[in-house]
Amino acid sequence: MESIIFIAPPAAGKGTQSKMLCDTYHIPHISTGDLLREASLVEDERGKYIKDQISNGALVSDDIILELLEERIQEKDCNNGYILDGFPRNIEQAKSYESILEKLNKKLGIVIYLEVEKELAFKRIEGRVSCPKCGSVYNTIIEEAMPKQEGICDRCGNQLTKRQDDNRETFSTRYDTYLDKTKPLIEYYENKNVLYRVQSGTNKNETFKDISLILEGRTKI
Ligand code: AMP
Repeated sequence: MESIIFIAPPAAGKGTQSKMLCDTYHIPHISTGDLLREASLVEDERGKYIKDQISNGALVSDDIILELLEERIQEKDCNNGYILDGFPRNIEQAKSYESILEKLNKKLGIVIYLEVEKELAFKRIEGRVSCPKCGSVYNTIIEEAMPKQEGICDRCGNQLTKRQDDNRETFSTRYDTYLDKTKPLIEYYENKNVLYRVQSGTNKNETFKDISLILEGRTKI
């Protein structure tokens, strides 16, 4: 299967859709945010730098993210494609990624641009909780996305947690960073003829259906 890249503003539903794709098509979900959150736990200078950038809603340096990603996509489970959630975040990362792909003899795949209204993204950020064990995402404000039992993961019964950068102030910075650095990637990938647009509303199943139609229209799965 082809690899899939998600380009979207924060809280557009990239994580949720990636998880659903991963369960349906059995290709790994690589969230660079998760890779970085894990790397931030190491108690050294790099760990502290990553933690600070994430809490300020700023991007982590391209060098660090590219190193983590290059290592991850060489793992065996990535041989039949993978889902990239949160990468690339700027044109420089996109260009460096292409050099890495060439070196590793891998293909770019397709890019899905998940569009979302800014107000809905805000609402998602405020209510978002997730499961640190299986990665499932829920929302305490949006009815369709609430867990069956408050604070508990439907899938694995683990306690749900809130990301420390999911607050109004950090969201504003993350959104502005998206407009300034990430949004230009839409035109970049449009020019390469690999971009598909999907509207992300409040119903995750409908968004998923639209994405599946794109994938099934293109590839043998
Ligand atoms: P996310 O989980 O995708 O919302 O990412 C959370 C945070 O991790 C972002 O606000 C950035 O600080 C950092 N981050 C994630 N992916 C990248 C990336 N590709 N490049 C730089 N920083 C990133």
